[in-house]
Amino acid sequence: MKIALCASEVVPFAKTGGLADVAGALPLALEELGQEVIIVMPGYKAIQNSKIKIQKLKEGVSYSIIGKNIKVYFIENDAYFNRDGLYQDKKGDYKDNLDRFSYYCKSTLELLKEINFKPDIIHVHDWQTALIPVYLKTLYKKIPFYKNTKTILTIHNIGYQGLFPKEEFPKLGLDWSLFSVEMLEFYGKINILKGGMIFSDIINTVSPTYSKEIQTKEFGFGLEGVLGKRKKDVFGILNGLDYSIWNPETDRFIIKNYSISNIEDKYKNKEELQKICKLPIKEDVPLFGIVSRLAEQKGFDLLAALIEIICKMNLQLVILGTGDLKYHVLLENIVKKYPKIISLHLKFDDSLARKIYSGSDIFLMPSKYEPCGLGQMISLRYGTIPLVFKTGGLADTVTSDNGFVFDNYKKEDLIKTMEDAMRVFKDKKRWMKLVERAMQYNFSWKESAKKYLQIYERAKAKAQ
Ligand code: ADP
Repeated sequence: MKIALCASEVVPFAKTGGLADVAGALPLALEELGQEVIIVMPGYKAIQNSKIKIQKLKEGVSYSIIGKNIKVYFIENDAYFNRDGLYQDKKGDYKDNLDRFSYYCKSTLELLKEINFKPDIIHVHDWQTALIPVYLKTLYKKIPFYKNTKTILTIHNIGYQGLFPKEEFPKLGLDWSLFSVEMLEFYGKINILKGGMIFSDIINTVSPTYSKEIQTKEFGFGLEGVLGKRKKDVFGILNGLDYSIWNPETDRFIIKNYSISNIEDKYKNKEELQKICKLPIKEDVPLFGIVSRLAEQKGFDLLAALIEIICKMNLQLVILGTGDLKYHVLLENIVKKYPKIISLHLKFDDSLARKIYSGSDIFLMPSKYEPCGLGQMISLRYGTIPLVFKTGGLADTVTSDNGFVFDNYKKEDLIKTMEDAMRVFKDKKRWMKLVERAMQYNFSWKESAKKYLQIYERAKAKAQ
């Protein structure tokens, strides 16, 4: 099958979150399964830092190669993409995001024609690429080149929909009739993700549980009705993890490599992490790690409300992340008060993230909702026991067999579960058995990629 995967961030070229991990790993797994895959993404400034050779195809398009022979095309435009951030700067979202991503979507459809890559499937991800199915079924409807092309939209987080003022609608080049409740209109605004959901042949999300949750009022962010109408076309496929990238045996950024056969070496990484974080070097104190966006979605409303109590427990806590300013301020103040308990790193830092995954005992991920979540899967591989709220992909990957789970999103429940984890931690024998079991869990891309092939086939079999 010929598959064009379109995403606004892709590892190893540009990353702000899990979407990039997925968009970088799924194509490799599909290639392994014998499929012909290309990737198209915006040509941001950050791409130059990837250390992979980039070549010019023509004015406005470059390309690179990953895997055995997967071409990654970069849609360039200095005015739109030659910036430090992908979607925003310190002041917030870029004001011209609609111009930027509609340009990317149109250019992608033009590029596929120019390079004569006639896709069976265009697999788009999140709102930034969601105009592609819209354009295909409207502006490109009569173009013979795309006659047999089908589209899949993967929703990585329905909380981010690409909302823009009505006044910007003419920029899309679409007929005004599409600005209606049945189409792209959403409470007086343009909703790009909604457009993608209506026009794509199949919609999927990144875990089975989340695919059900988003069809409810509680988790649907207002789009549950749109999904309800397309119930038969909605699927949930758990993300995999690229174990060649996330592997404590080969990770170059950690002080001591280890595997299931020499787990003791994991604790050299704990010592190192405590050193880096200027925390007391103590083996018997449980070290909790967080690598996350600092957002309410990730459980920071609970954590913020509990932080004083947490700092009085006999534990250590390392936090790496960026996000809402209110959490930056709150945590900065707490660190001043409890410098021996909590260590805070307000930045995006892949190397430190790996030191936290390997050096912590427990990975704290109490997300209020979580489409899939990669942090818990990475931490399992590194023998760091996840503690999670039972939601979305966390519910599909963490159980009492490999971690700690709480069922009610309440402060008391989170604290109680942290106390439970600390109690088990004290029992060294029991803890090491748990670590061993955790490290054996395998969420490989191979199985997930096979499931993607099934929904690609399903899309292909749909009528024009
Ligand atoms: P998200 O909702 O942010 O996409 P995921 O759990 O799906 O959450 O994926 C987050 C990815 O981003 C993981 O690979 C995680 O290690 C990484 N990550 C998140 N915050 C940081 C940070 N501050 N520094 C380095 N890596 C980070």
